[in-house]
Amino acid sequence: MFPWNNSPTGKPQELPVPLSTIPPLNQESYTSTEQSDPHSRQSTTMRVITLFAVVLPFAGLIGAIATLWGWGMSWVELSLFCGMYLLTAVGITVGFHRLFTHRSFETNRVVKFTLGVLGSMAVQGPLLKWVACHRRHHQHSDRGEDPHSPHNNAYGVLGLVKGFYHAHVGWLFDGERFSAIRYARDIRQSKMLHFVSALFPVWVVVGLAVPTILGFFLIGGWKGALLGFIWGGLVRIFFVHHVTWSVNSVCHLWGSHPYECGDESKNNAFVGLISLGEGWHNNHHAYPTSARHGFYWYQIDISYWIIRAMALVGLAWNVRTPDNLAPSR
Ligand SMILES: [Zn+2]
Ligand SMILES: [Zn+2]
Repeated sequence: MFPWNNSPTGKPQELPVPLSTIPPLNQESYTSTEQSDPHSRQSTTMRVITLFAVVLPFAGLIGAIATLWGWGMSWVELSLFCGMYLLTAVGITVGFHRLFTHRSFETNRVVKFTLGVLGSMAVQGPLLKWVACHRRHHQHSDRGEDPHSPHNNAYGVLGLVKGFYHAHVGWLFDGERFSAIRYARDIRQSKMLHFVSALFPVWVVVGLAVPTILGFFLIGGWKGALLGFIWGGLVRIFFVHHVTWSVNSVCHLWGSHPYECGDESKNNAFVGLISLGEGWHNNHHAYPTSARHGFYWYQIDISYWIIRAMALVGLAWNVRTPDNLAPSR
């Protein structure tokens, strides 16, 4: 048993989760708040843009497979893919998730800006909307207000397929609204983070331009630029998308559930590995404000290693882990 867990039943302690300070939803005030919040609208135009954001990376993957026959793949394309994957995935896991949503550590403005930009390049929506959506997920996990629970009261194999589809990608299109005013007030109050969030389309373009330009110079010519765009841009976005979405779908369906925390979150080792530690999702739901998601040495948590490394060189401090999180009562 963990030293920080003083419950004989294995239930986690009540923790000072910042989300608990968010008042319960009042439908009237929620709706009126939404109307004045440009970050929460899900218009038809936005759904079309979302469709492109989902389909184009898949088309890029098909194109990349096609280029393997004629052109093969060099170390440059592989490096562009891996490098851009790591940078933008860290932007999501260390930045959007553990820093901005859960405030599990503190850092300086330069690191905040950098992580905000890198996370935006992952093409998962503006920072404000991402944080609001994820805080709502924690507040209502696997209940009606959860934006992307796979548990939708349907039964049988068809219900499982429907639930998986909804949690993985379907929820992006169902017009769900996330009040940034209600759920991401702290992010809105930071001029810099508001700026990063508002310039989301710019960061997406930068995230595609960087591997394209590197491909032009390192591989050579327009063919090199195209390969850089496909591998470091579209294919990389495809994998960052589906790995992140697997945390929402797979990690609320399959895996171990050592902590009873009122939802269906699961620890899944495979997702844990490819998502840089986010797959230890039951641990995370039990201790949401912890910077550490993998609690044992074999629970590989690369994002926490990065935070630890940042702390060693003075770029992160007040790093919260389960054994230094004080119970709220
Ligand atoms: Zn979850
Ligand atoms: Zn979380």
